[in-house]
Amino acid sequence: MRIQIQLRIVGDDSSVISEGEILHLDKGDDRLEVVGLAFDEAKAILAGIQGGVVTAQAASFLARQRSCDLCGSLLLSKGPGQTQFRTALGTIALSSPRFHCCACRSGEARTFSPLNLLLTERIAPELLYLETRWASLVSYGMTAALLKDVLPIGGTADASTVRRHLHKVAGRHDADLSDEQPGGLGAGEDQPLPQGSVIVGIDGGYVRNWHDKKRNFEVMVGKSMAADRDDCCFGLVRSQDEQPKRRFRNVLGSQGLPVTQPVTMLTDGGDSVRALAGELSLGAVTMLDWFHIAMKLTGLKQYAKGLAHHNPVEALALQHRLERIQWRLWHGDGDEALIRAQALAADVAALITAYPGLKRLIKAVAGLATYIANNAAAIVNYSERWRNGERISTAFVESTVNLVVSRRFAKKQQMQWSKVGAHRLLQTRTKTLDGTLRDLFTRWYPGMAVNDNQVPDFARAA
Ligand SMILES: [Zn+2]
Repeated sequence: MRIQIQLRIVGDDSSVISEGEILHLDKGDDRLEVVGLAFDEAKAILAGIQGGVVTAQAASFLARQRSCDLCGSLLLSKGPGQTQFRTALGTIALSSPRFHCCACRSGEARTFSPLNLLLTERIAPELLYLETRWASLVSYGMTAALLKDVLPIGGTADASTVRRHLHKVAGRHDADLSDEQPGGLGAGEDQPLPQGSVIVGIDGGYVRNWHDKKRNFEVMVGKSMAADRDDCCFGLVRSQDEQPKRRFRNVLGSQGLPVTQPVTMLTDGGDSVRALAGELSLGAVTMLDWFHIAMKLTGLKQYAKGLAHHNPVEALALQHRLERIQWRLWHGDGDEALIRAQALAADVAALITAYPGLKRLIKAVAGLATYIANNAAAIVNYSERWRNGERISTAFVESTVNLVVSRRFAKKQQMQWSKVGAHRLLQTRTKTLDGTLRDLFTRWYPGMAVNDNQVPDFARAA
């Protein structure tokens, strides 16, 4: 049988604007695989409809621009022109004539292309969204291959085009942040929540540097968790971020919190993370993550076990003193813990023993004292928080780092990144993962349909 696909476009007054066959298909009915449309047939039909629709819309828009909107005179054509508009359902070639400006508008440009007033970008927002969303989840190459498989976009999708488009989206988002008026950004209507009910964890991860393949650089990832709100993620490369504070206020805003919201920041105590936490939010209470303190002390206790083979008495004393330091820290007494750690460092340095790990032990104990000193202000009463059922650990951020960074920036896949490339991908990836990418697009393009694009299961935290 012959299937004919016709497209008829009518105006508001029901007059026919265009009419014609898009294509016809000769289909059999004698085999399983010929039942229904083949994928290529469906793509050809979609591309044909899209071409007809876009052409009619452009022509109708152009017709309205033919006369001067001040005096009504018909504008003279300067000559024909061509342009292309990339959509998710094909790239459409359009005629885009230049017109002379009306003589009544003195002092303005002499000619103009009216279609540029409609097609302010040469790519349809829906395609830009699809590319950005998928490239935030899987590699640029896979995104291009996937879109080519399911959409009639032929040769126009390749990895570098997709990357360029994602960078454009992230760059525009960053520019939005700098345009925001102080105070106006994300100004939630709600009253601030109590400090303790908004916890922000920040942690770092490393990705391979494209410019210096032997080195890695640090990317920062954070997660804001507020009572009765959706969690919100953010990420950045420190040297690429001129406005971490605004980025953070934007995060609070998307959770419906006021910019003045006091927060509690949990950090691992590393220098770069601590510095960023201080910059993000002035009034924030910074809290050293208990998980990292406990890890450090566990490492030191391993040395005590090694030392026990050579100096059992000293090893027992070391073990005991580490436990006292841990107890002080657990109860928020950083001052006493520091005095004890410094004394322990001095005593260990004076130790005479055949234990081969002594040098590393001395370094590790000195490191503990420095760690406590650097984070003195962020050591809180963990015991009390624990009893009250409050959060004392950034374990939730470690899984966020793993989710945001490891699975897309994968070091083991030998992926390499420039700092600007990593920073931009972090912007769109965090928005894709916490489900706010579509909101960004509907804010830029209010006519876009709001949809609730869920994060695919494979991209979720384990
Ligand atoms: Zn005029």
